Amino acid sequence: MRAGVYRGPGEVALAERPLPEPGPGEVRLRISACGLCGTDLHLVHSPKPIIDPGSIMGHEMAGVVDELGAGASGFAAGEAVVVEPLASCGDCEPCREGRDSICRDLQLYGLRRPGGFADAVVVPVHRLYRVPDGLPLPVAALAEPFAVAVHGLRLCGADQASPPDRLLILGAGSIGLAVVAVARAWGFGDVAITARYPHQAELAKRLGAHRVIDEGPADDLTGYDAELVVETVGGLADTMTTAGIALAPGGTVCVLGVFMGPLTLDPLMLLGKEARLQWSNCYARRPGEADFAEAVRILAANGGAYSGLLTHEVPLAEFERAFEIAGDKGSGAVKVTVIP
Ligand SMILES: [Zn+2]
Ligand SMILES: [Zn+2]
Repeated sequence: MRAGVYRGPGEVALAERPLPEPGPGEVRLRISACGLCGTDLHLVHSPKPIIDPGSIMGHEMAGVVDELGAGASGFAAGEAVVVEPLASCGDCEPCREGRDSICRDLQLYGLRRPGGFADAVVVPVHRLYRVPDGLPLPVAALAEPFAVAVHGLRLCGADQASPPDRLLILGAGSIGLAVVAVARAWGFGDVAITARYPHQAELAKRLGAHRVIDEGPADDLTGYDAELVVETVGGLADTMTTAGIALAPGGTVCVLGVFMGPLTLDPLMLLGKEARLQWSNCYARRPGEADFAEAVRILAANGGAYSGLLTHEVPLAEFERAFEIAGDKGSGAVKVTVIP
């Protein structure tokens, strides 16, 4: 089969690999769509390799069940599914509580295990979620970033039952926009987002953001008084200072962005507000609360409303080009999807 692999810092390429065979409890999927995200860009552009050269990347996978390994049940060949790309030990204390995202030995498909920029992938059957009829598979692949949003909001105690008075999202990339989508699906009444580019602002409005704020100096948000600020930029951005300024007394900052170095923040500002900082990693499945299941439910309920997030489709044969588009700030890209 064809597979999109990491070659080393700044380099990806298409390679040939044997078609993987499902082991016990595993399933082979034919990939229909796999989204490319900021994490993939961070991995490829990191000056020091974070994953092994030769790794098959891609963790936002949607596909069709092809073959079941021994003992794998609950799904039939031909069914459309998305994959929760976690490989957790299942045995440590967090795992036993359903907190897979903080498993002591967490790995991800598409990082340290072979991922979905390929014709096929093998994953455990218990990581599959059925895609309802009528939800196109490239849209269904958004379940991954949507589950990140669901998990972060839930960790901060924000959901349908207890919406924050005022939510501010920093950054309008695919994760920031996913937070808008989930917040509006849950009926939050005051959702604002900062955006750098006009196409991001336009999408945020279409997803139902009440306010779109041009990215400007942090002081512009003095007195904004958001009960919950969700940071989605990460990298080397100075957004934690902005978060402290925009936060209401007693508020919470949820960190979804992946920071690549030490943070700058204003400790006196956060002290004076008794701020809570909540880091959030991936998604989990506490009893009755699988974040992925909620993400699929939201995507299915609102169908086509989210297709605008899918700005570019690139055939797997042109895998390198997907990274060029996603890495080019001027391309207008939000979500680049690789299609085998
Ligand atoms: Zn991702
Ligand atoms: Zn574990």
